[in-house]
Amino acid sequence: MAGEPMVLVVEDEPAQREVLAYNIQAEGYHVMTAEAGDEALDIVRETPPDVIVLDWMLPHVSGIEVCRQLKMGGETARIPIIMLSARSEEVDKIRGLETGADDYVTKPYSLAELLARLRTQLRRVRPATVGERLEYDDIVIDLAEHRVYRGGEELRLGPTEFRLLTAFMERPGRVWSREQLLDRVWGRDIYVDSRTVDVHVGRLRKALKAGDHGDPIRTVRGAGYALG
Ligand code: CA
Repeated sequence: MAGEPMVLVVEDEPAQREVLAYNIQAEGYHVMTAEAGDEALDIVRETPPDVIVLDWMLPHVSGIEVCRQLKMGGETARIPIIMLSARSEEVDKIRGLETGADDYVTKPYSLAELLARLRTQLRRVRPATVGERLEYDDIVIDLAEHRVYRGGEELRLGPTEFRLLTAFMERPGRVWSREQLLDRVWGRDIYVDSRTVDVHVGRLRKALKAGDHGDPIRTVRGAGYALG
């Protein structure tokens, strides 16, 4: 499969599902969601994801059962599964059940920790997509440390500008429309005026140009923006 890694989020609680989907998407991954175990099994057979984030407590077909079925053999057995569970005692129990899950995260989890575990699993199956550094000309993004450098000097960027620059640096030369940047940086379900994109691109440019550097971002009239 080409392009960004695909993550399947299986969680029956709508708010938690949305938070997970939004934040995983903000990392630059594609996200599919399922709210029930049988639905998750159907999706995996139709469109195998690269990694599955799987809640233990699901109605009807539990997360454990989903995990067991997927890990039983065949193509689905190689897909890493990160199990979510409410308490650490449950994690012990899941471990004892030998479901074959690749990792376990206890709720309430820190999003940063979950995303780090996700990257670890993706590094196994899609090493090229989880590069820890992005480089373009004299600009370097250290994704692991969340830092940006230009000509060796660290730049201070806001979180939106950081995500914008990451999108640009993943595809140098690609022309992004404002709508594509909105989807990629803010997420599909968030309403943001497209002029907001211009404001944040303006801030990113200003930060990148600090200290007499040239402007690496190109405005493409009638189309959007591109790096280089
Ligand atoms: Ca649940």
